[in-house]
Amino acid sequence: TKWVYSFSAGRSEGSASMKELLGGKGANLAEMAALGLPVPPGFTITTEVCAFFYTNGKTFPADLAGQVDAALADIGRIAGHAFEDPQQPLLVSVRSGARASMPGMMDTVLNLGLNDETVEAIARNSGDERFAWDCYRRFIEMYSSVVLGVEHHQFEEALERIKESKGFALDTQLTADDWRKVAAQYKAIVEQAAGKSFPQDPREQLCGAIKAVFSSWMNNRAIVYRGLHNIPESWGTAVSIQAMVFGNMGAQSATGVAFTRNPSTGVRELYGEYLINAQGEDVVAGIRTPQPIAQSASHASGFEKISLEAAMPAIFAEFKGYADKLERHFRDMQDMEFTVERGKLWMLQTRAGKRTARAALKLAVDMAREGLIGKDEAITRVEPQSLEQLLHPTIDPAAKRNILATGLPASPGAAVGEIVFDPEEAAKLASNGRKIILVRIETSPEDIGGMHGAEGILTARGGMTSHAAVVARGMGKPCVTGAGALRIDYEDQSFTVAGKRFGKGDRITIDGSAGQVIAGEVKMQRPELTGEFAVLMSWADQKRRLKIRANAETPSDARAARRFGAEGIGLARTEHMFFEGERIVAVREMILADDAEGRRLALAKLLPMQREDFKQLFEIMSGLPVTIRLLDPPLHEFLPHSDAEIAAVAKAMGADPVKLRRRAAQLSEFNPMLGFRGVRLAVIFPEIVDMQARAIFEAAIEASMSTGEPVDIEIMAPLVFTRAELDLVKTRVAEMAKLVEGETGIRPNYHVGTMIELPRAALRAGDIAPSADFFSFGTNDLTQTTLGISRDDSGSFLNAYVEKGLLPADPFVTIDQEGVGELVELGCKRARAANPTITLGVCGEHGGDPVSVAFFDKIGFDYVSCSPFRVPIARLAAAQAAL
Ligand code: ADP
Ligand code: MG
Ligand code: MG
Repeated sequence: TKWVYSFSAGRSEGSASMKELLGGKGANLAEMAALGLPVPPGFTITTEVCAFFYTNGKTFPADLAGQVDAALADIGRIAGHAFEDPQQPLLVSVRSGARASMPGMMDTVLNLGLNDETVEAIARNSGDERFAWDCYRRFIEMYSSVVLGVEHHQFEEALERIKESKGFALDTQLTADDWRKVAAQYKAIVEQAAGKSFPQDPREQLCGAIKAVFSSWMNNRAIVYRGLHNIPESWGTAVSIQAMVFGNMGAQSATGVAFTRNPSTGVRELYGEYLINAQGEDVVAGIRTPQPIAQSASHASGFEKISLEAAMPAIFAEFKGYADKLERHFRDMQDMEFTVERGKLWMLQTRAGKRTARAALKLAVDMAREGLIGKDEAITRVEPQSLEQLLHPTIDPAAKRNILATGLPASPGAAVGEIVFDPEEAAKLASNGRKIILVRIETSPEDIGGMHGAEGILTARGGMTSHAAVVARGMGKPCVTGAGALRIDYEDQSFTVAGKRFGKGDRITIDGSAGQVIAGEVKMQRPELTGEFAVLMSWADQKRRLKIRANAETPSDARAARRFGAEGIGLARTEHMFFEGERIVAVREMILADDAEGRRLALAKLLPMQREDFKQLFEIMSGLPVTIRLLDPPLHEFLPHSDAEIAAVAKAMGADPVKLRRRAAQLSEFNPMLGFRGVRLAVIFPEIVDMQARAIFEAAIEASMSTGEPVDIEIMAPLVFTRAELDLVKTRVAEMAKLVEGETGIRPNYHVGTMIELPRAALRAGDIAPSADFFSFGTNDLTQTTLGISRDDSGSFLNAYVEKGLLPADPFVTIDQEGVGELVELGCKRARAANPTITLGVCGEHGGDPVSVAFFDKIGFDYVSCSPFRVPIARLAAAQAAL
């Protein structure tokens, strides 16, 4: 087997396409070298050796040593030095490199090959004794901590002691003799800590370093990083061995890192830093302050800065040429490492640079305009999910954060406001224009009003799928959950954290992207929906097949939906309106009434309010489809609990509180989610349908008079499992349409359809479809009912399912394609077969999840509907799915 692939300027056995075998670093070194860039010669040991190493008790294939020897000899010939040659010693670096870049996670050893003898040769050959001993002490330090497991701080302390005794502040003040002493002390430390002397044999050093790099694949840092980035353990790392070049050989030497464009803004400029007379890690180690690469760079303000451009103009020009060439070659922004050795430039690494969402957007659009990539590719260059960062106000990166506690980043964006603990009070204050952060131990459905009014939501308990998290994401509100350090005292209207007390009215900031709770008011940045964002979105819109609608019921959500490009409302939940202000009393009256007559009286009070809600929605959506779901939640949720609540309802109804309490007890349920809710309410209380249909029709007439646009009404029955339920609703709605026509002389134009959110409904889709103008798959409830998992109670175990690999993803975030997805697909097929003109859509969190959107596109849905803030994400995801 071929275990080793060589590279050197103009000649490489590997290439950039061989990342699986050579790792990202090795593959790109080979590619750079093949392009003719000045790359120090070297070779890469493949990831297959890593696999062998772990399956064979940390041993190497028998024929590896021979291949390494041959490759080393090659380097020696090209570099004019030879490994183990005491007169002209070759020094190498041993570098790790996985398939996906894992910056800083694994180990690298520099200056390998140095020992008590070769250090003298290096000193002689370079004519620079100080440099040689500086390299040697670096090597002892690096090798001992990486390979021999000697703790780093011991070396640092020894160095500090020597500097102190000399009265030096900077490493640069140390002389050759000083470094010689440092090296001797380092060796003594190793002898003590490792129980053996520092290895002098370069071959033993090399073998140890290769083993250590392979072993670093399984170090803790790397394991945690892989977990966070979904990198499989089976990939393994490659090891690249490369002739050393030296940036620490005096004033004409330097080392640096640079991006071809600004990775945080996307602006086209060489962005990076370098240090004169330094080696590798020094730039990031922060011992000295690095200088900017380009003189005009936007980050290079301040007069004391001396750019590479100013200090070494010829090197800068050469480097800029390579940067341009690499960017054109890889057709993406590059992140490069380089070293200058006595006026000669060497390229040490290139890879696609990590970037912020903002930069990714600008890069994609700019590169397409420059002709570097096509529009289709530009669409694929931006992670749809990452747009979320751009759609919410965020904390000004320059602002100082006084972090009080850290919880879960449950819903992105940042919010500032005054602390309020009571949801009703929060709603009231918010309607007076105050900015509120609602702080709760946990939230429940009754808190919706307060959550809606609040700028942001903070809870002490609960996970990423807790009620607060799900609702906040749906509303596009920043939310931090599970901030366990907060001690919330509702009685006292305060919380304490880190010994400090925060009371009602005190201002805090929450960062839902980072999960942080921050004291006081921190400066914000507004989202930017113009510029590159608008351009990329327009390209995406030309490509996608799926229509994108929004889930929205309030005017402000509906307006946001339009701003974000929604093509209609796919789900307006009428019950959200029922909790607002005084309405809840009328709703309770309706529920607790003894008979249809009593219900009608209460509903009559609700009618004008509902009509006004719908009218506003229709006006805002002018001409676009609006799907209104009939009353859905368990009545249980609306029941009064406290004596005061019962008394208020009793007064409004002129009824006996004792009787009312009994009635409320009758309606209370053991398992409301599977109880008296959805279309079942319409079956038992058809007056509710009458009222809602009337409100819809009358609102539509008013709205189309004010906008001059027809209203595209879709009336949707929830939780249907048999066609007869839908037919019952349809008949009722048709009768009301006739009634309204009789009263107004205007015939309402509307469609009736149903949600498909029970397995039985999906299975019987073929029966139900002929009665429906549309189906909207309610994948939230369908997931609950298919998996038998209550979303609100899943927090205690679902994460473990994902972590332990029992499920590939949280099924409430990404649709469970194998189970729920099969039901959805089956439902689609049967529906279309029975009713070819039926419109099929999805509402629910999955409508804004890129992976789920791709699935919905594949099985032929007409649209997806998601929360307003996810609309741009869905637009981009739908375009990527269509490519
Ligand atoms: P990481 O993946 O952590 O960046 P690298 O393998 O890239 O690790 O190496 C760490 C540092 O050492 C980098 O700054 C790199 O440029 C430098 N370096 C690696 N190999 C050499 C070499 N052969 N000559 C000079 N510097 C090197
Ligand atoms: Mg590197
Ligand atoms: Mg539902």
